[in-house]
Amino acid sequence: MLFEDLGLAQEIARAVAEQGYTAPTPIQAEAIPAVMEGNDIMAAAQTGTGKTAGFTLPLLHRLSKGERARKGQVRALVLTPTRELAAQVFDNVQGYSRYLPMRHAVVFGGVKINPQISRLRGGIDILVATPGRLLDLHNQGAIRFDRLEALVLDEADRMLDMGFIHDIKRVLRVLPPKRQNLLFSATFSPEIRKLAKGLVTNPLEIDI
Ligand code: AMP
Repeated sequence: MLFEDLGLAQEIARAVAEQGYTAPTPIQAEAIPAVMEGNDIMAAAQTGTGKTAGFTLPLLHRLSKGERARKGQVRALVLTPTRELAAQVFDNVQGYSRYLPMRHAVVFGGVKINPQISRLRGGIDILVATPGRLLDLHNQGAIRFDRLEALVLDEADRMLDMGFIHDIKRVLRVLPPKRQNLLFSATFSPEIRKLAKGLVTNPLEIDI
């Protein structure tokens, strides 16, 4: 299979081609069509499998077809366990959407909150965040999720290991119930399956 066969928006296909990718990785070949169609997915994937493009490319595709984000709104939220991963995912998002008229942001703790509040005011297509800072920003009224279309939990097993379960539950409580959910985890432990139960609806399970 080639990237061209996936039917990604031409702006995205161009950015992918410039990265030098020709064929999707196995996880991308399964995840991209399913996510483009709006399905929920639950994928067992380690770092290095191409999982980031596996969710970023089809999310950008879907978002590119809809209305732009309005003031303070977020259209897709990616939660990660660490700042490093958040920064890395954000770099991917920026790179793959370089030919799209979109606005993305990354927020994590340990740095000043005010610049993040200013950035969020304009409306955000994809927000990459660690859970604690996201909740602070939401509590301060800096973000609205009423128009959220998709949620990604990246490295969900690490999030649980790091004790983020309560933060994740708090985040889930402030999101609209009708949304697309993508869950990525290195392994599917009983704890992850329990989390998934309250999160994904009829997910396509991908285990490469
Ligand atoms: P990830 O698993 O998302 O951390 O990606 C691992 C690495 O693989 C990253 O450096 C990507 O740039 C690269 N990559 C992702 N998808 C592809 C692809 N289809 N072909 C070649 N390299 C890729």
